[in-house]
Amino acid sequence: MTTVLNPATEEVIAELESAGVEETDAAVARARAAFPAWRAVAPADRARLLRRLATLVEEHHEELSQIESANVGKPISGARGEVGMVAQVFHFYAGAVDKHHGETIPVAGGIDMTFREPLGVVGLIVPWNFPLNISSWKLGPALACGNTVVLKPAELTPLSALRLAELALEAGIPEGVVNVVVGKGSVAGQRLIEHPDVAKIGFTGSTEVGQQVMRGAAGTIKRVTLELGGKSANVVFADADLERAAAAAPYAVFDNAGQDCCARSRILVEASVYDRFAELLVEATRKLRVGDPRDEATEMGPLVSAAHRETVASFVDGEPLFRGDAPDGPGFWYPATLVEARPDDRIAREEVFGPVAALIPFRDEEEAVRIANDSDYGLSGSIWTENGGRALRVARAIETGVLSINSNSSVRVSTPFGGFKQSGFGRELGMHALEGYSEIKNVYYSTEG
Ligand code: NAP
Ligand code: MG
Repeated sequence: MTTVLNPATEEVIAELESAGVEETDAAVARARAAFPAWRAVAPADRARLLRRLATLVEEHHEELSQIESANVGKPISGARGEVGMVAQVFHFYAGAVDKHHGETIPVAGGIDMTFREPLGVVGLIVPWNFPLNISSWKLGPALACGNTVVLKPAELTPLSALRLAELALEAGIPEGVVNVVVGKGSVAGQRLIEHPDVAKIGFTGSTEVGQQVMRGAAGTIKRVTLELGGKSANVVFADADLERAAAAAPYAVFDNAGQDCCARSRILVEASVYDRFAELLVEATRKLRVGDPRDEATEMGPLVSAAHRETVASFVDGEPLFRGDAPDGPGFWYPATLVEARPDDRIAREEVFGPVAALIPFRDEEEAVRIANDSDYGLSGSIWTENGGRALRVARAIETGVLSINSNSSVRVSTPFGGFKQSGFGRELGMHALEGYSEIKNVYYSTEG
């Protein structure tokens, strides 16, 4: 049995049967049976079905936002933004269905052409921090390419994925094309990874489980894309607009209570402005509105679970530079926290996945790049400077998949998203995601004789 809680109140909001190996196999069998007909749907019709799903997400925008807010404990304003993106993602991939195609290549003696073939049944395994959003990033391109899917949401947060699967049926997407299994990662997830009829695993989660996905997939040479953890740097140079950078920095790490793979949880500040910036940052963090996720004005809610709060708390020892307010409970609350750190400290190396940011001074540009790159991870990051040449020079030097200059933003529907190093490989969003859900076939046609 899976018991689903509201992290802000600790109330039980659902109890669900937990899928074991048998139920997971049944879902794969349904997806496999649905594949031949789904791949044969004419492109314009497949696009129309995805567009209808996008429209249904828009029509159920408030309902889906409320589900996500209650299940993850995230502020309703953030949940609304995320569900808005889900609709845009399906609109984008509806439009992409007939724009992702093969080519003809000049060769001697005939015609050479390539086709983009679907993979078959793909397993999608997603985490609890942005359940619906991350599901859509995988479902959109997977369905657009003609695959059928088995989606495994995190056990803590299955509700929005279940509602989305109902909307997919209502949109007219045939039975068996979108399947959801609610079950433990170690059981249902592991079975998907090892199942001989699953052609690919699209995974978002921790680097540790990502390693298990790669190992498990080896047995059947499954394709994998891995979107894993991060420890991204927010690099603030002395020539930056310091007020603007300091006002933005809290939202780069405390959004979603820091449970964000893109969190810029290492704030690197040029030594000559370190004290001034720290002052501005404390002021800005103090203003963060923490509390009831149902309140429109709330900017930060609780953590997802009691166990996760314990992990987060284990990172903070000693007196922090700043600790904000948080409700006592019920709910898995943890305050926004700023600590001063050195690059070798645990807090500066490991992903906290909670509202804790580490401030680290640097001497010059060269040292900033060295510290930023001194990480096993390479997912996102920000650079704050008014010097355009430096901005681009540093952007090229930082080993990370996604960067923003004078901004916190990480994801857009039409642009590629994914990691370097142990943050994973493969790209989501934009046209790039379609590469991960199709296989290139080459056909040569002799024109001789
Ligand atoms: P997680 O523990 O790695 O779990 C992710 C998913 O994998 C869940 O659905 C989980 O299921 C499942 N899982 C666990 N063990 C498994 C196994 N042995 N075989 C197959 N599936 C298994 O990650 P999380 O705690 O949910 O999320 C936090 C992590 O995700 C952070 O490290 C964060 O950085 C990363 N993340 C990355 C991105 C990105 O795009 N790069 C985005 C968001 C989050 P159960 O939970 O049901 O057991
Ligand atoms: Mg986990």
